[in-house]
Amino acid sequence: MKAFMKEFKEFAMRGNVMDMAVGVVIGGAFGAIITALVDNIITPIIGAVMGGVNFSKLAITVGKATIGYGAFIQAVIDFLIVAFCIFCMIKAMNKATNMKKQEEEAPEEPTTKECPFCKTEIAIGATRCPNCTSVLELNADIDLEKPEA
Ligand SMILES: [Zn+2]
Repeated sequence: MKAFMKEFKEFAMRGNVMDMAVGVVIGGAFGAIITALVDNIITPIIGAVMGGVNFSKLAITVGKATIGYGAFIQAVIDFLIVAFCIFCMIKAMNKATNMKKQEEEAPEEPTTKECPFCKTEIAIGATRCPNCTSVLELNADIDLEKPEA
């Protein structure tokens, strides 16, 4: 039993379990927003456009069986709205992530430095200038890391 509890603790403490829990909670809250949006705004608008038709009440009676195709149509519409909202959210998030990435990548690492003796551009890791053959001190790299003023 002790080993079982330890295993459960390890499982529950794993980062992705917490992420998943957050996802489920946020997803549930988001679902409530979508439900409210669909029930109170989208469905009445569609109903008004279509002349007061309430999808969920649509049904055909065939003999003794009732085919409630209205509820099915409603479910499909709900799904499309949820899928569209999630698509928009992911698109916005991707855009934000890309923008952040670009900001991070913006300050490009210098690949060249200036030889302090002949002022020509040489490779950043060079310890001897290929142009004037001067031996470059290693700490010169630190001085030259800053962009040329
Ligand atoms: Zn040089």
